Amino acid sequence: MAHKYVMAGVMGWPVAHSRSPTIHNHWIRQYGLQGAYGLFSVQPDKLEDAIRGLPALGLAGCNITIPHKVNAMKLMDVIDPLARRMGAINTIVVTPEGALHGFNNDGFGYIQSLLDAKPDWKADAGPVAVLGAGGAARAVVLSLLDQGATEIRLTNRTRGKAQALCDEFGSGIKVVDWSERHDALNGVALLVNTTNQGMHGEPELDLQLDQLPTTALVSDAIYVPLETALLRNARLRGNATVNGLGMLLNQARPAFNAWFGVMPEISPELVQAIMATL
Ligand code: NAP
Repeated sequence: MAHKYVMAGVMGWPVAHSRSPTIHNHWIRQYGLQGAYGLFSVQPDKLEDAIRGLPALGLAGCNITIPHKVNAMKLMDVIDPLARRMGAINTIVVTPEGALHGFNNDGFGYIQSLLDAKPDWKADAGPVAVLGAGGAARAVVLSLLDQGATEIRLTNRTRGKAQALCDEFGSGIKVVDWSERHDALNGVALLVNTTNQGMHGEPELDLQLDQLPTTALVSDAIYVPLETALLRNARLRGNATVNGLGMLLNQARPAFNAWFGVMPEISPELVQAIMATL
């Protein structure tokens, strides 16, 4: 029997920068599947029409990226409980009956990136410091809590947004004033940057690492550049580091599995292909 031709893609605005086509089309080739993954540049006021068109076009589903992650959720027939808690979706799966199921795999991607770097990593190994309270922080904080983190020190330039996350996600989170962020590194087992500081085109993250134990794992959600100043400084003082590429690659795996029926692996060739686009 001939294999079914499976189509998927990513909706965003703008979307041209997305690495998702490189990732998914690499896996389609690697696993000898029939199909394609495209870019859909969808203006915000066209989002509903575009999403409602997925079953009619026969797509298996799509990824959802900035700025549609929150608004797309309202258009789903079924929302995965984790995505509902995150308040945003990044993946839609169209069922054979044409229903739209919304998921969010960013948290899975983040946790998996830590485990890829350090297979014996445990969320409850000690306090965690998280910088930032935007979309990436929601995924990171929620997934760390679900993995058993007992103390998350959350600090954000705009304190109210960190407080709102704390109010929503509860007792494991302690809000730390942005001016106190350097001291918040004392005794932590994991430090995570989810702000955009250090990203290509942005200033470096202003953070003193003196109090950070050298045993702490240091991760940055940023993947352009691959090694931010934070990660470089941490590496030079002996900390193990994890860049944002693992989160990006791993969040794509469950979506590919849902659409194409194969849980894909991250090969060195895929990493090379993505690095060539950075
Ligand atoms: P976002 O929702 O816009 O949040 C941006 C965060 O950066 C907020 O906490 C914001 O603080 C903080 N920030 C901005 N300017 C700052 C400054 N001058 N000083 C201190 N903090 C500042 O963005 P996001 O979607 O969470 O993305 C954040 C980063 O994560 C980006 O670099 C993105 O590329 C990366 N990311 C990576 C992945 C991956 O798969 N690896 C996935 C998602 C995101 P305020 O609240 O005070 O504005």
